[in-house]
Amino acid sequence: MPEQSGASGSLDDDARSRGRQLALEARRRRAAIKRSLAEGGSVREVIAQRDDDPAVARMRARDLVEACPGIGPMRATRILAECHVAESRRLRGLGEHQVAALIAALEKAGRDPSGGGDIPARPARGRLLVLSGPSGVGKSSVVSRLRSRHPDLVFSVSATTRAARSGEVDGVHYRFVDRAEFEAMIARGQLLEWAEFAGHLYGTPAGPVEEALARGDDVLLEIELQGARQVRDTAPDAVRVFLAPPSWEVLVERLQGRRTESAEVIERRLATARVELAAEGEFDHTVVNASVDEAAEAILALLEQAAPVAAP
Ligand code: 5GP
Repeated sequence: MPEQSGASGSLDDDARSRGRQLALEARRRRAAIKRSLAEGGSVREVIAQRDDDPAVARMRARDLVEACPGIGPMRATRILAECHVAESRRLRGLGEHQVAALIAALEKAGRDPSGGGDIPARPARGRLLVLSGPSGVGKSSVVSRLRSRHPDLVFSVSATTRAARSGEVDGVHYRFVDRAEFEAMIARGQLLEWAEFAGHLYGTPAGPVEEALARGDDVLLEIELQGARQVRDTAPDAVRVFLAPPSWEVLVERLQGRRTESAEVIERRLATARVELAAEGEFDHTVVNASVDEAAEAILALLEQAAPVAAP
């Protein structure tokens, strides 16, 4: 009907013009912020507004860095790479560690405006975090916490021959493959490491890990002991963390409380857990999982101090 289309047309026009107005206001607001930063305004204060001010939330980290006095495009690239912040990242998407790293780098640049000069930047490679520990220690809860605290952390999706548990999604939790396919991946040299665990094969596809590291992203492998040993040999710079239970009793309790496994499987995993606990000394660091939050914080602090993994 003509009236209807006329009415909806004017509604669309109103919405479009309002949208344009809001975008214009946001651009003006960001321009004002950049001017204030150029005059020595506080980076810390600008970032603090990202939860309340949508214009700040949508500001690109790169624009924030370049707005600071004495920081040209090359130095901005270097600072972003050193802080593990993607070029296109907006302020609302920064994790707390990235915020802390950016503030420290920009405050340092403010105190030391020469900052080593605008030398050509080489994007930093990412860091490799290997998390291991006995079955039942709570690795997956700690992994979820790590990923929410460090949203840019790339979780390596392992290939496995075991069947999917309920709720597990192919390509997200694991790549579920049959033995023939897994063996073909080994034969083609596509796995960074692999191991047989509780009757099934598990392995880390090498390609996605290398691509992420080369982009400058940190990568997390949640793998068992034999795999962690292989990574020690192939990537000696990796941060290898052993997640330990507060006590053996707590571990037994957690494994027995798991409803998804049969008694025989639990018994087998307890036997493996005993062997795995004995390997703690082979790791660079031990973190006790008494509280998921505290364990995740401790692991992130270890990652923060780590060096990027050298190119193969
Ligand atoms: P689940 O079957 O409970 O998911 O995992 C069993 C064990 O396999 C866990 O200790 C887990 O860390 C380990 N695992 C998962 N993916 C990999 C992998 O790609 N490589 C190795 N070596 N272990 C893995």
